[in-house]
Amino acid sequence: MKVPFDKIFYTGKEMEFITDALKRKFLSGDGYYTGLVSSLLKERFNINKVFMTTSGTHALELAVRLLNLESGTEVIMPSFTFPSTANAVMMMGLKPVFVEIREDTLNINPVDIQKKITRRTGAIIPVHYAGIACQMDKINRIAKDNKLYVLEDAAQAVNARYQGKYLGSWGDIGCYSFHSTKNYISGEGGAIAINLKDGFLIERAEVIRENGTNRAKFIRGDIDRYSWVEQGSSYLPSDLLMALLYAQLSQLDYIQSRRKVIHDFYSKNLEQYSSSAIKSMTFVPDDCDPNYHCFFLVFENRLIRDRVMIGLQKRDISAVSHYSPLHSSPMGKKLGYQPEDLPVTENISKCLLRLPMYTGMTEQEMEFVVEKLIEVLGEL
Ligand SMILES: *Cc1c(COP(=O)(O)O)cnc(C)c1O
Repeated sequence: MKVPFDKIFYTGKEMEFITDALKRKFLSGDGYYTGLVSSLLKERFNINKVFMTTSGTHALELAVRLLNLESGTEVIMPSFTFPSTANAVMMMGLKPVFVEIREDTLNINPVDIQKKITRRTGAIIPVHYAGIACQMDKINRIAKDNKLYVLEDAAQAVNARYQGKYLGSWGDIGCYSFHSTKNYISGEGGAIAINLKDGFLIERAEVIRENGTNRAKFIRGDIDRYSWVEQGSSYLPSDLLMALLYAQLSQLDYIQSRRKVIHDFYSKNLEQYSSSAIKSMTFVPDDCDPNYHCFFLVFENRLIRDRVMIGLQKRDISAVSHYSPLHSSPMGKKLGYQPEDLPVTENISKCLLRLPMYTGMTEQEMEFVVEKLIEVLGEL
């Protein structure tokens, strides 16, 4: 048996919806299926305004742009994230300020956020790692006290909740990804969730995503021709991709429940090795309903982690590390960071291993992973 790290899952509706989209002969943005998916996300997650985007990265870019922060403004985010989070900030001439994560959830640490706020801070970007929520009540409180925006990087967190409220709906703006490595996919794709009830900002989003034109107003019949009104870009995904996404979102709960089965299986069977060979593993705080995006193990040190990774590889199981921290990357160094600036992040990244996790994973595959992992742990 060979177990990949990740595998694409189809619900069975994909062909039907894609064929229908082809028949409709409208393949550009804001077509029939774009309407369906954006309404579904809006209703289901209780979001004020949803715009679909070409990727999670573009959702982040659009979101940062909408905040209209003055050049040089500092934006607080974890170093333990994908480069998109920091790129979106830098592209707008802003400065990423990296902070520590908590050792249990690997999410941004509110205590360190508080420490790194300066007069120049303008926003916080919490990243919900593995689809498990950051402490959004605390983060929103800190933001309110310091008059900062909160922009959620909920790329991995579609359909996950914190205290019963969906992730992406806690901050001023939330960003989702439908990249083929995430739980719900369109190959490439994303969405921006605008929670701010700010008509002016929403209108700007409409303009920016359509090359800086007021085409949306024209389509609504508010004006009789459209023109270029500000600097923008093109963030609209093809309706063909949104047809694929609609098929995926039609099985929102099924996909999540399948992933929960894998999570529960790993947790139950590996629990006894926790705090011996395995230092810690995916931890779900009581107030979090995750979407079970991934399952991770943290080992005592890099050597052990690498041994386990190679041991699994030899047994045809693909388990992978995660996030070279941004602050200690070549780009982070250019920004003036040293690896020792964020010791928790630096250490976690060296010791982390993610186990195979995909919606279509069979019981035999799960059992195989656990059996072989226990075998490898016995050889340490
Ligand atoms: C996947 C991901 C992104 C980027 O999303 P894309 O759709 O691949 O552009 C950004 N941030 C985080 C935390 C992610 O996991």
